[in-house]
Amino acid sequence: MAKIAINLTTGSLQKEDIIVGIDLGTTNSLIAVIHPETKQPTVLKEIDHTTLVPSIVHFGLNGNLSVGNEAKEFLITDPERTIFSVKRLMGKSYKDVEDASYFGYRIIDDNSEGLVKIAVDDKFYTPIELSAFILKALKQRAEHILKTPVYRAVITVPAYFNDTQRQATRDAGKLAGLDVLRIVNEPTAASLAYGIGLKTGEEKTIAVYDLGGGTFDISILRISNGVFEVLSTNGDTYLGGDDMDKAIVNHWLQTYNIDSDKIDADKAMAQQLRLYAEEAKKALSTNEHFTVAFKNLQLELSRPQFEVLIQPLVDKTLSACQSALKDAALSINEIDAVVMVGGSTRVPLVKKSVGEFFNKAVTDTMNPDEVVALGAAIQADVLAGNNKELLLLDITPLSLGIETMGGLMDVLIPRNSKIPTKAGRQYTTQKDGQGSMRITVYQGERDLVKNNRKLAEFNLTGIPGMPAGLPKVEVNFLVNADGILVVKAKELRSGVEQSIEIKPQYGLTDAEVEERLLDSLQHAKDDMQTRALVEAQTEAQVLIETTNSFLDKNAHLLSNDELTATQKSIADLKDMIASEDKNIIQQGIEMLNNISRPYAERVMDEAIRVAMKGRQI
Ligand code: AMP
Repeated sequence: MAKIAINLTTGSLQKEDIIVGIDLGTTNSLIAVIHPETKQPTVLKEIDHTTLVPSIVHFGLNGNLSVGNEAKEFLITDPERTIFSVKRLMGKSYKDVEDASYFGYRIIDDNSEGLVKIAVDDKFYTPIELSAFILKALKQRAEHILKTPVYRAVITVPAYFNDTQRQATRDAGKLAGLDVLRIVNEPTAASLAYGIGLKTGEEKTIAVYDLGGGTFDISILRISNGVFEVLSTNGDTYLGGDDMDKAIVNHWLQTYNIDSDKIDADKAMAQQLRLYAEEAKKALSTNEHFTVAFKNLQLELSRPQFEVLIQPLVDKTLSACQSALKDAALSINEIDAVVMVGGSTRVPLVKKSVGEFFNKAVTDTMNPDEVVALGAAIQADVLAGNNKELLLLDITPLSLGIETMGGLMDVLIPRNSKIPTKAGRQYTTQKDGQGSMRITVYQGERDLVKNNRKLAEFNLTGIPGMPAGLPKVEVNFLVNADGILVVKAKELRSGVEQSIEIKPQYGLTDAEVEERLLDSLQHAKDDMQTRALVEAQTEAQVLIETTNSFLDKNAHLLSNDELTATQKSIADLKDMIASEDKNIIQQGIEMLNNISRPYAERVMDEAIRVAMKGRQI
């Protein structure tokens, strides 16, 4: 099926352009897209096949800025001007940074509550600016590989990131020239990469175990109908593969009696040893034994030795898993899947221990370094509207509701509602035997739907014949975390139901939303009067219809006077509806009610008498 995006703001067709998914990591970052030809999520690779861009920025003395592998080379030789782990500083004030000494560069303490700055020579940079350098490099990388400009992205963040940290990430994207369509939780992205949560009606509880180079996160998610809810998170911001490398270095220092003072004094030697340790660790993920020549020594490490060294680290992650389960109030057997993320989950002992802990085989068939970026690309594709049916709408900034009688807007989800969110309300039919009900979904702040934006409409059909007012049609709105609105209508007595899914529209700019809000404020008074009039007109219309249908069935039970008075009153009320005066219409309603009430009661009593005849009570 050919897919195009309709911009509902302008009504124009939108040029199909690429939206990238970015995993902005503490140690490494990646960028992924849905491949234009294969339609598969794909991590972008340079010609040299590298996918990971180290999240490192180096400021050269000559004003040269480098990012990624190029910058990484300066970690040892020029630590003061080489910024790593900037993600740990995002959205933080100096007081939040417990471990300023961990960073080889200068973090400024200006004694303020404000966000931290990093000093390089005589210049100051915010973590947002530094992250923007990394994002810009990723953007250029994507443009270079895809040979097309890239200006829209989805960026992932840890589930525990607070609003400030999320906003900082969004700002970094903006600064890098990217329109950040969504900030997505890393565990949510990982889950999407495995296709968990993409099917409607799917209900799952999963654990995402993310062990990277320097951080460990465990998140428990509940997925229901495309809504990803974070039930709990736990972890350790200073625990990861780097600690395994350190454990190996220490083991070698002891085993081979290497003078640690000498190593500490020689940065290049220390770095070499650390690199060998990492090489050993990686090799032991597939081999049983590792050996390498270092100076006049032959360093060795077997897998069992390695496992003894890292057991305490693994145990630490498992106790965090235990706490996360406890916080989510779940038992191990309530977890449906355990998704493995992060390079360090390649270690066989990690896989085995996590599998044993959760008592099930872990989900680990994909490259653990890539799953988050791939999931971000899938999310980007959903936002691009390429994923399923195509209707792109923006729903978060404005109210959502349906049209009720008289063209009035009945708001189910008010504007500024936090997503995911849901709301429901019951409606009924206006006519006897009405077999279908039209549900029209609108977005906007005005009282009359004709002034709002129509998003979708569908018919709930198959309502069994019942007198007006008897069917109970429950309309439910559900906006999931991705901003997708699902509208369901169900007739409760018969169980017939129908639903529709509406995609978010990012095309609505802040200015357009503002314009709509302003418009609703300016018209607030008119709108209130119109609403009151429409409500009175609708009430009068319904009263005329029900009275007419009553007369159709029961005219023979009424006196002639009653019949003529009723017919006259109905004719009067019709004229009054046209008068457009709410007070006059109210009077007409009262008049008709006063005439019909006495005989309506009489007829009702008679009906009950007939119904009860011959029955034993
Ligand atoms: P991440 O932060 O997710 O990129 O993870 C990087 C960490 O994964 C580093 O500590 C790497 O040394 C580690 N890692 C990468 N490949 C392997 C492997 N084959 N076996 C064990 N650890 C690995």
